[in-house]
Amino acid sequence: MNFLEKRIREDGIVKEGNVLKVDSFLNHQMDIRLFKQMGQEWKRRFADAPINKILTIEASGIGIAAVASEYFDVPVVFAKKSKSINIEGEMYTAEVESFTHKCRNQVIVSKKFLGPEDHVLIIDDFLANGCALQGLISIVQQAGASLEGIGIAVEKGFQQGGRVIRNLGYRLESLAIVESMDAQTGEIVFREQD
Ligand code: 5GP
Repeated sequence: MNFLEKRIREDGIVKEGNVLKVDSFLNHQMDIRLFKQMGQEWKRRFADAPINKILTIEASGIGIAAVASEYFDVPVVFAKKSKSINIEGEMYTAEVESFTHKCRNQVIVSKKFLGPEDHVLIIDDFLANGCALQGLISIVQQAGASLEGIGIAVEKGFQQGGRVIRNLGYRLESLAIVESMDAQTGEIVFREQD
């Protein structure tokens, strides 16, 4: 069991509706020492990739991406959730449906901060159905940038996102993959990784 799986076992709470609450260390209160370990681990896994930019999505991706950027020594761009419509031309845009909040958001990234010269690592906290990730991938494609890989903290392996993204041929490194979880007993089973 790796450091993140151990922490999820200790402090994660399994909720009804396939939701894993990790707000005591990941996406509300943040354990920066843990984030540093995550950043180091992604750096180790993507050591051979010529990454020059990290892309994430607000809000909960920002903290982990910011800490990870220390190890890659590259800037972080975060996709903003936006209601405004009068932005065509200056922005890349994508539609993202939120798994936890059950609503649709438009996310935007300024064309100033992403372009064909960029080699991008996408980082996010969770991968469930993959909607957030598909939105970020679409933004990388619109920019004509190269997607070097995707770093996820917690993948819920029993939802479709990870399978879909891997089948598309992207390099996806999830630090913890939850194979199954039970809201009644609180039991969490992780997928074996090398
Ligand atoms: P997806 O778009 O892959 O369905 O969901 C990804 C987003 O939904 C993540 O960025 C995360 O904010 C949120 N999310 C999905 N599943 C969970 C969960 O089990 N727990 C928490 N805390 N957030 C989740």
